[in-house]
Amino acid sequence: MLTEFGSSHATASSPPLWNRLYLYFGGYDSAFRNSEQISDRHVLVRAGAWTGPGIAPYNEKIQSFGSRHQVPFELKKTINLPQTAFPMKANLPHNEPKMLERWERSRIYDQIRQARKGAPRYILHDGPPYTSGPIHLGTALNKCLKDFIVKSKTMAGFDAPYVPGWDCHGLPIEIKVDKELGGKKLQMAPLAVRAECRKYAQKYLDLQRKQFKRIGVFGRFERPYATMTPQYESVVLSTFFSFYEHGFVYKGLRAVYWCMHDETALAEAEVEYENHTSSTVWVKYRLRDDPAVIDAALAGKKVSTIIWTTTPWTLPASMAVAFHPEEEYVALESGGEVYIVASKLAQDVAGKCNLADPKPLAYFPGRKLERLNFQHPFLDRKVLGVLADYVTMDTGTGVVHTAPSHGAEDFITGVKYGLDATSNVDEKGILRNGLPEYTGKRVWDANSPIIDLLKSRGALLHTEKTEHSYPHCWRCHNPVIFRATEQWFISMETPMPGGAGKNDTLRTRTLEEIKKVKWDPGWGEERLSNMIQTRPDWCISRQRVWGVPIAVFLCESCGKPLNDKAINRKVVELFGRSGADAWFTPESDNIVPPGTTCPHCGSAKFEKETDIFDVWLESGASYLALIDDEPSYPWPSDLYLEGGDQYRGWFQSSLLCAMGTRGTPPYRGVVTPGWTLDEKGQAMSKSRGNDVDPVDISNRLGGEIVRLWVASVDFREDVVGSEALMLRVGENYREIRNKLFKNALGNLFDFDPPANAVPFAKMDPLDRYMLHQTWSVSRDIRNWYDDFAFHRIYQRVNHFCIVDLSAFYFDIIKDRLYTFAPNSIGRRSAQTAVWRICEAMARLLAPILSFTCEEVWQHLPKIFGRPESVHMAHFPEASDVFGESSVPEQDPQLTQDWITLLGVREQVLKALEEERNSKGIGKSLEAQLTLTASDPGYSVLQRYASQLRYLFIVSAVNLVEGSGNGTSGVRVDVKKAEGAKCDRCWNYSTRVGEDKTYPTVCERCSRVLKELESGQPQ
Ligand SMILES: [Zn+2]
Ligand SMILES: [Zn+2]
Ligand SMILES: [Zn+2]
Repeated sequence: MLTEFGSSHATASSPPLWNRLYLYFGGYDSAFRNSEQISDRHVLVRAGAWTGPGIAPYNEKIQSFGSRHQVPFELKKTINLPQTAFPMKANLPHNEPKMLERWERSRIYDQIRQARKGAPRYILHDGPPYTSGPIHLGTALNKCLKDFIVKSKTMAGFDAPYVPGWDCHGLPIEIKVDKELGGKKLQMAPLAVRAECRKYAQKYLDLQRKQFKRIGVFGRFERPYATMTPQYESVVLSTFFSFYEHGFVYKGLRAVYWCMHDETALAEAEVEYENHTSSTVWVKYRLRDDPAVIDAALAGKKVSTIIWTTTPWTLPASMAVAFHPEEEYVALESGGEVYIVASKLAQDVAGKCNLADPKPLAYFPGRKLERLNFQHPFLDRKVLGVLADYVTMDTGTGVVHTAPSHGAEDFITGVKYGLDATSNVDEKGILRNGLPEYTGKRVWDANSPIIDLLKSRGALLHTEKTEHSYPHCWRCHNPVIFRATEQWFISMETPMPGGAGKNDTLRTRTLEEIKKVKWDPGWGEERLSNMIQTRPDWCISRQRVWGVPIAVFLCESCGKPLNDKAINRKVVELFGRSGADAWFTPESDNIVPPGTTCPHCGSAKFEKETDIFDVWLESGASYLALIDDEPSYPWPSDLYLEGGDQYRGWFQSSLLCAMGTRGTPPYRGVVTPGWTLDEKGQAMSKSRGNDVDPVDISNRLGGEIVRLWVASVDFREDVVGSEALMLRVGENYREIRNKLFKNALGNLFDFDPPANAVPFAKMDPLDRYMLHQTWSVSRDIRNWYDDFAFHRIYQRVNHFCIVDLSAFYFDIIKDRLYTFAPNSIGRRSAQTAVWRICEAMARLLAPILSFTCEEVWQHLPKIFGRPESVHMAHFPEASDVFGESSVPEQDPQLTQDWITLLGVREQVLKALEEERNSKGIGKSLEAQLTLTASDPGYSVLQRYASQLRYLFIVSAVNLVEGSGNGTSGVRVDVKKAEGAKCDRCWNYSTRVGEDKTYPTVCERCSRVLKELESGQPQ
């Protein structure tokens, strides 16, 4: 049953309004789902629709839009309902990849570079993640934070390029490739193994690159820096040569951390402390010299000292016993023998070693024992009494067995006393050149036969198991040992080139420079200073294959390295050309010119060093490599941002590499996020199953949700990630998307800024007030971006969307936007404000909500000169928010007025709520108010008298001067509104029915309808 809509009015005196309105709202299907246009002027409406004024049946199905409006059909068409193609449902998993394709096609990163060309530079230098697996929530947090910073600096006007980097060399990859290759590896040349490792690293570089892009990170992704490119490898080598040529480098025997499992030396940064149970022994070392030299009371006695060690396997390497020079020692007589131990520990030792009835014979300082000779408990060896400050009085006996080949401090003591530091433990941890009882055994397996040996020689006084914190390999988690090996070192004590002398060393200068860096959080300064203060020389060599070789020629006859600047340059050039692989090819064989001789022994034959560099030296050279590639980048960079473990790692190695090549730190500032934990505060790991995979979240909820989660956490603390939190962030995302962006865009469908924008001075006071609020929010947000306080932005924006906009501003201006004549100044004023708020917020949030703000940007009115992408735009200035530069940023009078008005509004809302509860009214528009107030409140209310009914969303406000009550001195009386309900705007008015053409509408709406009909303002 179809009715021809409009035909029944052809006879009316005025032209049929609805036809013209239909054309006016031509593109407006959603409200017309039940009608079809059959010609320019005719629409068919299905049964039940209203076909003439005064009859007014409702078509419930079409006309219920929102709870507040239920309007006869043809009147409904005169309402400026929101319309926008910006969807309520974001469908991020589906739409983000499309946006990424668009960005890829338009080369957004290059366009941004072009747009910021010549602007001041801001360089956040990326720390390279390791290429041995997919990204996880921690890496996503890291990259999102960097992306927020880079994008916010870009929008603040800086040229902020971002070159992502990857750390591709090193043990974990080599081990994984070893496993894949199995026994085959032994038959393969180093080059073939390196090719396999390269493939492996490239695979994960490609995967991580894809994953970082998926979460919306912008950067020079098609040409990242990677530690395995020829250019990068050549810079690693030239960084080393810079140290080498300035005398920082030496090759020497040194007790270094050694992983027997991985068969390599480890840096301090590669060692982690874990609990380990050791066999601990108390061992007697007999004094060979005359005890009377210590004290006359000991003359003729059988004297020993007692050492204590948790590593019995190091006893074959025992070369000395160390005493503290200043601490007091005691000689205890028991069972016919005398034992020397520290006084402070004497009671404890006597108990453990079962010394019956111990009697002190003499007390003396440790220094009296220096250079005395003791007897090794099972080898034919004199063991020297030595002094050392590191001997402590908290555990053991106060006497430290010293094996220079198996301890860092022992080694240093050994150098001082000229002790033998030869290691008789091979790279697999097997003891060599000793007694048959333990030779050929691995260190841990040697403990037991050595304890038996001590027992059989009568030297063992006590043994027990001790659990203690012990260094472990951070890669394979096996306990490590100290082992003296020939290694390459960078000396921390080398005087700085061109410096102030021998006290101006790499260590002291680095400590000075640390103070000039901005550490965020501030504890970073002390943490790194303490590490630099106490760190040993940097062991930079590793005995592996997958890395940059220490490309130095060694004399075949004396083994000494050839340090020739011209040859060094040639190798660097070769690496730049052919990559570090060239060290393993004949290409590098001809670098040493014929006739070159060893300056030490005169030999003319050289071989190539086979060690590779510590990967920390490689990644430490990353900014040097980047500015080698981009010479226009400034030195130093502005910011490094990595986790707290990088104080031992990348922050430190980068600092030392920079100090050794340029004499200043590579960064002005260093920021450290906390760890990413699960809801129980535990570290996330795939194996534990408590990890939140950012790629999975992106695929299910959206990359934007991962980003917003990052913004929601206070990253300087440890942060918590979980499925539940992601879902909660998703809820917040919907609030921002709909309460702010969709609401705003929906009301801008007929707004053309150049034609319709209202100058600030002519805007409605509420709109002006909201623009001031928006500017204040903008300023806060920009300051928080500068402080990297993204969680505060998140909180403020949520509050702004939900409280300031949705529950207040948008609620109030709905009436103006929907029911005022489309081109009325009241409506245009609100649209102007909504447009400026939406523009400002899209720009302000683009660094965080990169996908959504770009989407919003495409739906905002296009104006001349506006960049194609929000990511090329700038943050809003005051002149953008107010629309002109002459508006003062603050308006104290306006602000004061609104503090008063909002105070009254609070009271009104409360009064309305009470009235609603007592069933006096339903919707607030059914109410009218009487406000009784005295000054100063009264004059403010009077000044805004015409606005009050809109502000409170009631049908009428009656203002009376008199003594009020309440906190603001205003009394609020609520009554049922007089008159009838307007069918169009739902306000109550006593004048509904006055207009005979439109008998069901109020005087306001009647004016609007006449205007629409005549096309002339009424
Ligand atoms: Zn290991
Ligand atoms: Zn030589
Ligand atoms: Zn009305």
